[in-house]
Amino acid sequence: MLIDAHQHFWIYDSQKYAWIDDSMARLRRDFLPQDLQPELERAGFRGCVAVQAQQTLEETRWLLDLAASAPFVLGVIGWVDLQSPQVRTQLETFAGNPKLVGIRHVVQSEPDDRFLLRPEFLRGISVLEEFDLAYDILIYPRHLPVAAEFVRRFPRQRFVLDHAAKPPIKSGSVHPWARGIRELGTFRNVYCKLSGLVTEADWHNWKQEHIAPYLDCAFESFGPDRLMIGSDWPVCTVAASYGQAIGVVKDYVRRHAAQVQEAVLGSNAERFWRLQPRQQSRG
Ligand SMILES: [Zn+2]
Repeated sequence: MLIDAHQHFWIYDSQKYAWIDDSMARLRRDFLPQDLQPELERAGFRGCVAVQAQQTLEETRWLLDLAASAPFVLGVIGWVDLQSPQVRTQLETFAGNPKLVGIRHVVQSEPDDRFLLRPEFLRGISVLEEFDLAYDILIYPRHLPVAAEFVRRFPRQRFVLDHAAKPPIKSGSVHPWARGIRELGTFRNVYCKLSGLVTEADWHNWKQEHIAPYLDCAFESFGPDRLMIGSDWPVCTVAASYGQAIGVVKDYVRRHAAQVQEAVLGSNAERFWRLQPRQQSRG
């Protein structure tokens, strides 16, 4: 079972998606399940995990509605206000929905580089375990040391690092990103998504060999049982087609045993989020 562990849906609005600048003009339209389905099928994927792009409860509800009507959307990473004293109440409103499998906050855009360690945020994270929800860590390489301090506090919480913390592929420098990745990889409750990598490379001139050193480091740090493939569609289309974006990781794992391929291309994601392929309910 091949699973795309990271993609987005949206109805485009220039104010809500102000981060989409002129260089990303092709993202200024709607991206919905009917647009993704043919891409998934062509790539041999059976399902996907949809990730929040707005920080609103309304978007979380909308993504869950989309997932309810599109069975191939196996899980949703939503947003709740983790810093709010009302976080538990917010989570309770979604608790009956088996498709909500994780929460994410756009930490990379927070002006405070130590945002992950804020007491209000830590309090919110401490509640996720009782709702059986994972947490997606979206950061830049400079945040990696803080992320290690962060995950150390929650040894039983499931975490997954988005886009391998966005390595500086375009610049070609591997350190100090690699040092941060190795440290985070020592925490067994942290997984890593091999997603969105083409977006961190030179959009117009990237090659597989530019990305391979970063994949080597991710494999050394997390091992084949804690890595998962993701497209970051539609954002990846600024640099590649869906097939090319996914192909970077698919081609890389081809050198490994069939068991490793199966793990990275789907079964790790299935186990991590306890996804229930092709079932509407967990009963
Ligand atoms: Zn993304």
